[in-house]
Amino acid sequence: MAASGKLPTFRLPPLPTLRELIKLFRLQAAKQLSQNFLLDLRLTDKIVRKAGNLTNAYVYEVGPGPGGITRSILNANVAELLVVEKDTRFIPGLQMLSDAAPGKLRIVHGDVLTFKIEKAFPENLKRRWEDDPPNVHIIGNLPFNVSTPLIIKWLESVSCRDGPFTYGRTQMTLTFQKEVAERLVATKGSKQRSRLSIMAQYLCSVEHIFTIPGQAFVPKPEVDVGVVRFTPLVHPKIEQPFKLVEKVVQNAFQFRRKYCHRGLGMLFPTAQRLESTGRLLRSADIDPTLRPTQLSILHFKNLCDVYRKMCDEDPQLFAYNFREELGKSRSKNQNKDSDREHCGL
Ligand code: SAM
Repeated sequence: MAASGKLPTFRLPPLPTLRELIKLFRLQAAKQLSQNFLLDLRLTDKIVRKAGNLTNAYVYEVGPGPGGITRSILNANVAELLVVEKDTRFIPGLQMLSDAAPGKLRIVHGDVLTFKIEKAFPENLKRRWEDDPPNVHIIGNLPFNVSTPLIIKWLESVSCRDGPFTYGRTQMTLTFQKEVAERLVATKGSKQRSRLSIMAQYLCSVEHIFTIPGQAFVPKPEVDVGVVRFTPLVHPKIEQPFKLVEKVVQNAFQFRRKYCHRGLGMLFPTAQRLESTGRLLRSADIDPTLRPTQLSILHFKNLCDVYRKMCDEDPQLFAYNFREELGKSRSKNQNKDSDREHCGL
């Protein structure tokens, strides 16, 4: 990407190709770690271009592996790139990149699920939440089994404005299994509408920017890959604690093919289920025969607001978990059965 204005442009010097590097450091993908590498630099350039203007930016790359996306980020004229990689085998190859881009690349051997990025970049990058996003970006092509829990963790951080969002409305460009990317952006009424759609869209503007065919990766995964960009909203569409929203949304989608009152009813103990579900749906102005996939974010906002009020009235309610109640009643019934057997009944 060309630098704008008077900033000097940085380009990496000639380096071994990614394939040569993989051979040199024996970096065969570890299947058990779901490693799939992107070796086509036109594709890694495209991911980085779509992440936005990175001139002079501070970028956090998660799971750099052999460094394809890392090269593209360094060529985008960033101020600094911090990479966190779990697999030690990749560190020497990344070190080679660091030597080729003096002072620009910081390598951390660690786990993105626990790394604290909030202390890693200069304080003066911080912006107020209402301002334009800071010049801090997160980019990554992680294994699918890491990217989904990670986005849930970061969405909670968006709602608390902590972690990567202590800098302000930090933008993220991440890859997901295509099916998950489609769920993240699914609108009301679509087949893919799910828990993830609501959790992502009430907090962020979410775009599925393009799809990379599975065959572009080495080794080739079973599925295609969606590149998704998240920009936190100035005003979240639901203003309740993340855990409360998560609970309402999780319950609503419990029985995704049934009417929404079925899943939402599970928010309440059996003894009061009928009455409380009726009150919840009436107060939230929701037709109980809508399917969960037909509920809008505004419907969920109303549900969360009413449920919050009900939790404030009954402090035990939020801790209620229908699975625990089910478990208890099952073991009670089993005990009854074994007593009957014992008595020869
Ligand atoms: N970004 C590289 C690319 O596009 O070619 C590698 C992609 S590979 C799908 C995922 C990378 O994330 C691997 O290098 C893997 O070791 C790393 N990784 C997996 N789990 C991680 C974690 N919890 N923390 C940091 N890195 C992780």
